[in-house]
Amino acid sequence: MRRKIVAGNWKMNLNLHEGLDLARSVDRYMQKSKKTDVDVIMCTPYIHLSKASELLASPAVSIGAQDCSDKSSGAYTGEISAAMISSTGATYVIIGHSERRSYHKEDNELLNKKVKAALDARLKVIFCCGEVLEEREKNLHRDVVSKQLREGLAGISADDLDNIVIAYEPVWAIGTGVTASKDQAQEMHAYIRSVLAEKYGKESAENTAILYGGSCKPSNSVELFSMNDVDGGLIGGASLKEDDFCTIIDTFPG
Ligand code: PEP
Repeated sequence: MRRKIVAGNWKMNLNLHEGLDLARSVDRYMQKSKKTDVDVIMCTPYIHLSKASELLASPAVSIGAQDCSDKSSGAYTGEISAAMISSTGATYVIIGHSERRSYHKEDNELLNKKVKAALDARLKVIFCCGEVLEEREKNLHRDVVSKQLREGLAGISADDLDNIVIAYEPVWAIGTGVTASKDQAQEMHAYIRSVLAEKYGKESAENTAILYGGSCKPSNSVELFSMNDVDGGLIGGASLKEDDFCTIIDTFPG
């Protein structure tokens, strides 16, 4: 059975102290809530990874990074390898976020190398996919997402898929306040699951968590997460506010 997941993407926000305060508060909330049916992940800037991982006391909470290098080591100034991330105690990494794809020109081929580097370092991957507005308007969203998945996950085995979470994030919904409707989200999540089933078989596809991302907040998480193929969310802006993030986590009762 696939897990329910609420993951926060802090992006380039919060200094060290602010970030550790937030991580501590969310961890304490999860300790008190004693929920067992939802996994909470906070994907922080690199500077928080080590200390945030050390302070965790709730077994339901994990720390992740927001990107990693496709290289393992060497003269790559400013880069951080997957093994370095793993050595901090962090256990997840986001790969293929639309902001990396667009601002840093990361293409599917590079992202595929990053996925392999992350898995080699025993990190779990949150692999992002999603179309821009123009692609949706031209009815190309399924083709775009299918290509991102096929190329981004090329050479990844069904066993490896156990360590991959997919995040469907329509780019037109990220940070815009515009959210996909529950039906739009369900339609794309079911489609993504069918693409995974074609490649990995029905069972592996059924066991893979697919998160929705894009202006998800307490006011819409209930209806989005109620859909069959929506297994939780990747939350940007609302993950920076303890109350909002914890309310979204509480969308899952158990
Ligand atoms: C994101 O950055 O992954 C995201 C979904 O952002 P927001 O929730 O702010 O739209």
